[in-house]
Amino acid sequence: MQKTSGIHHITAMVNDAQRNIDFYAGVLGLRLIKKTINFDRPEVYHLYFGNEMGEPGTVITFFPWEKQIKGRIGQGQVGVTSYLIPKGSFPFWENRLKKFNIETHVSNRFGEKYLSFQDPDGLLLELVEREEGPINSWSFGGVQAENAIIGFGGAILYSAQPHKTTEVLENVMGLECIGQEGDFLRFKAEGHIGNTVDIQLNPTVRGLMGAGTVHHIAWRAKDEEDLLRWRSLLQDKGYYPTEIRERNYFKAVYFHEEGGILFEIATDPPGFSVDEPVTELGEKLMLPSWLESKREELEETLPPVEVRVLEGDK
Ligand code: ZN
Repeated sequence: MQKTSGIHHITAMVNDAQRNIDFYAGVLGLRLIKKTINFDRPEVYHLYFGNEMGEPGTVITFFPWEKQIKGRIGQGQVGVTSYLIPKGSFPFWENRLKKFNIETHVSNRFGEKYLSFQDPDGLLLELVEREEGPINSWSFGGVQAENAIIGFGGAILYSAQPHKTTEVLENVMGLECIGQEGDFLRFKAEGHIGNTVDIQLNPTVRGLMGAGTVHHIAWRAKDEEDLLRWRSLLQDKGYYPTEIRERNYFKAVYFHEEGGILFEIATDPPGFSVDEPVTELGEKLMLPSWLESKREELEETLPPVEVRVLEGDK
């Protein structure tokens, strides 16, 4: 049976590139590990944030585009992105978010305490302590490695058809249902990170894609062979996966599950150090070879952005 070890990356849409960098790097202390463009729309950035090495299971990516109309979080989307923080760092994050005037909310699910908040575009995020995953040795601004976000804890899926989404998680992605609490079904994958996925059984409104919503969630495949096996499994089960797409840092297949959420399966290799050294990740605008001839034009059109320590965090 095919089993993913968990989430590979999550991709969302936002309006402003610098504001996005200031929040995910400046406030959350993640590392901008890749500054590239949307391969299908080169006039739009594609920004990747993750742990120091940009390992699968830690990576959130964004398409920042000013003209993008605002979306609505709801059915057919990833509703909430959960991040894993080290044991004992909950108070640090409560204070840090308060310091940046970010409203937080504390809740409990499956015996775990969650700190929920929104990013500047309205994306729903939460932090949860667990003794899992590798240490993220990246320190930035006021976030030192001891408190740094480790990677994804998981996500909450707002499915339009929870039972169909359950089926795809169990019978295609190979997660295991480990319980229900109120409106939530919980699934576990085998990996140590990005491994806990909840389905919210009664999301209220229909989701609309746009700024402030998640575009898709990607699951980990070990390598291209693994990805090919998944592609044929999907076809056998009546889904319509895309061809394998070359994404430079991984290869990927996309399909819509019946609950309306766009799923991707992405290979761990080659990873983000394929075109620049680990020490310099995210510093330069990286282009795929077929767009290298348009570099000058693209660099002029894209808004200038920088990773910077925020005021009051030095
Ligand atoms: Zn993706």
